[in-house]
Amino acid sequence: MNYVSTRGQGSPVSFEDALLRGLAPDGGLYVPESWPQLPANWQVDLKDAPYTEFALLVAKAFAGDSFDDAELRTLVDQAYAPFDHPDVAPLLELASDLYLLELFHGPTFAFKDFAMQLLGHLFEIALKRRGERRTIIVATSGDTGAAAVEAFAGRTAINLFVLHPEGRISEAQRRQMTTATAKNVHNIAVNGSFDECQQTLKALFADEAFRSDVSLGAVNSINWARIMAQAAYYLSTLARLGRSAAFSVPTGNFGDIFAGFVAHKMGAELGPLVIATNKNDILHRALSTGTYKVAGASPTLSPAMDIQIASNFERLLFEVLGRDAEALKSLMADLARDGEMTIPPGALSAMRELFLSDRVSDQETLDEIGEAHAKYGIVADPHTAVGLRAETRVLGGVPGPHVVLATAHPAKFADTVMKATGESPALPAKLASLMDKKERFDRFPPDVDQIMTYVRARI
Ligand SMILES: *Cc1c(COP(=O)(O)O)cnc(C)c1O
Repeated sequence: MNYVSTRGQGSPVSFEDALLRGLAPDGGLYVPESWPQLPANWQVDLKDAPYTEFALLVAKAFAGDSFDDAELRTLVDQAYAPFDHPDVAPLLELASDLYLLELFHGPTFAFKDFAMQLLGHLFEIALKRRGERRTIIVATSGDTGAAAVEAFAGRTAINLFVLHPEGRISEAQRRQMTTATAKNVHNIAVNGSFDECQQTLKALFADEAFRSDVSLGAVNSINWARIMAQAAYYLSTLARLGRSAAFSVPTGNFGDIFAGFVAHKMGAELGPLVIATNKNDILHRALSTGTYKVAGASPTLSPAMDIQIASNFERLLFEVLGRDAEALKSLMADLARDGEMTIPPGALSAMRELFLSDRVSDQETLDEIGEAHAKYGIVADPHTAVGLRAETRVLGGVPGPHVVLATAHPAKFADTVMKATGESPALPAKLASLMDKKERFDRFPPDVDQIMTYVRARI
């Protein structure tokens, strides 16, 4: 399978190139040239299969030209071994036709581990094969950074720089990154929002000299391999249920839910997909009004979703525009110039065929954590609570199973959970041990030049 840029420039590249580059040189995002189809009967044949079979299925479909079957088998076995639940992505029945898909059993307790663990191994093999090194710079709204540190710490061919918005992530999230002792991990606290971190990252990528001098790579969800890896848990869930299902997905950068779209494109029967946003509701407004309009991101109780520029939305736009790269480019130019773009009516109705959306306030998030605790005996983290509330509100009349993605472990957001339930969530030993470790990070404003100088000096 080869990959093309959503902005249409350049010739198609291999999976390995798309993996190591992250962003396409024309500023677009890589998407597969065509959509591989699931084998007939997959849902029945894999009904009781272990999680790694689903990971292998998508990896073979999307990365099979760059890695052979035996390599991929080893990779997925290694990637999911550190998960602390035998099902890896367990499906918990909350009520009749209501399920929670627990995606927080990885080493850093958020769904980001599903893709990042795999990426760590993919990068290692690919770089070794080429005899190359990479500088990976990642912007994090809290969980990506920790997952990247866990996946890349100590890997000799890689230097990892993590930009996090200072004061806008939880203490547990910050400590997971800043207590890392590996020499190849560098933490930067940016005095700004996640969007500013992400803009800085994009500006670093746009600088050709810098990009090639430091061999820049990206593992944000703009990296296709992340989306690929996440499609596996939609498939494992559908196989387990044995029928179609609707999914409610706590959404920020549109990566996790786009993985559901990928499963759909591969022929899996599913839907609707609910885009559950917090107060930073650009995607909910876009779907409701047809105008994708950037407003300032404001801090909420679900910080991993405090995002106003949802990078992966570009991939969906490309699809619903019938893969018309010129049309897409002109919309992205509108967005860059005016801070908004109007989704053409045909594209908007195509989106609405599969996607629904909702916006959940902080108060509703707190209420939902309390109600879910009382009703189902579960402790939901604030992001998961956004998904739960959206499910109740938006999927009410939709028949069949509803699956809410539980994107993080509640202990990562202990203060909010305490406020909502009156009890502090039990802290996994691994998180508890971070609290008295020494932190290491440097502070910068969201200034491209200063950060560039720092990166060059450090590698
Ligand atoms: C990253 C994250 C999200 C948002 O996922 P996207 O792929 O950015 O839409 C939701 N919840 C948690 C806990 C996260 O870490």
